[in-house]
Amino acid sequence: MPNEISRRTLIELGLAGASVAVAGAAIAKPGPSAEPQDRPALPDNDKIGFAVVGLGKLALGQIIPGLKTAKSAKLVAVVSGDPVKAKRIAAENGLPADAIYNYTDYDRMAKDPRIQVVYIVLPNAMHAEYTIRALKAGKHVLCEKPMATSVADGEAMIAAAKAADRKLMIAYRCHYEPLNLVAMRRLRSGSLGKPRIVTTDMGRQSTLSDPSDAWRLDMKMSGGGALADMGVYGINAARYLLNEEPIEVRAWAKTDRTDPRFRTVEDVVSWQFRFPSGTIANGTTSFSCAGTMAYQVFCENGRLVADPGCFYGGNKLSLIGVPAAQGAPKITEIDQFEREMDWMADVVRGKVPLVTPGEEGLQDVRLMTAILESVAKGGATVKTGWAYKRAHDPAAVVDLPHPA
Ligand code: NDP
Repeated sequence: MPNEISRRTLIELGLAGASVAVAGAAIAKPGPSAEPQDRPALPDNDKIGFAVVGLGKLALGQIIPGLKTAKSAKLVAVVSGDPVKAKRIAAENGLPADAIYNYTDYDRMAKDPRIQVVYIVLPNAMHAEYTIRALKAGKHVLCEKPMATSVADGEAMIAAAKAADRKLMIAYRCHYEPLNLVAMRRLRSGSLGKPRIVTTDMGRQSTLSDPSDAWRLDMKMSGGGALADMGVYGINAARYLLNEEPIEVRAWAKTDRTDPRFRTVEDVVSWQFRFPSGTIANGTTSFSCAGTMAYQVFCENGRLVADPGCFYGGNKLSLIGVPAAQGAPKITEIDQFEREMDWMADVVRGKVPLVTPGEEGLQDVRLMTAILESVAKGGATVKTGWAYKRAHDPAAVVDLPHPA
């Protein structure tokens, strides 16, 4: 369906303007009337004020638009290194001149009561510094995935949140998205039997000519090319689908070093997680394949297929091998960014639990590090049993817009 969903999907994949077939994009994005009706918008004065840091593709394409329709959150400031762009975006969103920040005067936000949450939408290697500075300024932080480019940075971010007594949430939109929540709930219900194998495949084409990809293809800025950009969705999905943590990993990579895109990052990475229950998860990622964000869970009595499962919209869930009455779950399409920011606003208000805290992001950073360690050791087994357990199962605490 060549609609808004397809356009957004292409933007997510960095392929806007390219010709890509989007399998299963059968769910049209509804208008505002189909958004959850049980959460009426708060009066503007009661909304939580967000500052958006880094006015790149995601901030301009999804986050600022999401804040326009959010029920509990609103845009109150922007942070940018480009004063002309910042002035234009501020004007378009009715922000006064003193709500425009740059990376140098960033810390003056400590004295700005309009800002309660700082949303970090910068290249991955910059997440730690700007998260920690915002926390020190007394603000809560919503930080994009992957949380950081090193375990030490992730730990420092968590420590800074604790020291400041502020909330740190990682922007894992799939934890708040109906299709993924339905998938988790079906698996938890046991109706498909025990999960035996999970496969996650997340990749896309990349191009050095796009500045937004150029830093992703630089190991220092991205922390891992396709693995850090797309593979992290698969690592995270295997964990939230099974609601358990891998105890060991083995991984391999295939990278053409003569391709100028892959001078410092791996291209194809394939890994295998072993979970305490005995379930195996096979994950792949690549920056040289057609866009895909798909997963499958092979269970004792049936198979759950989400293809695509993690796009901005147009995702499709199938249940195969189960009685018709249990199949074809009804999924309500929502604006995932709006929902995630509303969740953060409600966390700040103390109304809902922090489902994706820094610790959840750190677990993925640790696992990506373990994957790259195994790759460097030719596929050797790396132990990953760090005893992390998520505080809240999203399937249990995040509401669905409509019961599935
Ligand atoms: P972009 O490159 O499009 O935007 C990043 C912005 O950061 C730039 O536009 C720039 O904004 C600012 N910036 C500051 N310093 C630098 C620098 N040295 N190099 C490049 N940019 C700089 O990236 P995206 O918007 O695609 O991604 C941003 C973050 O969001 C990443 O962490 C990414 O992983 C995440 N992301 C998450 C998605 C999701 O679905 N949750 C989807 C896409 C991205 P300015 O000019 O205003 O200073």
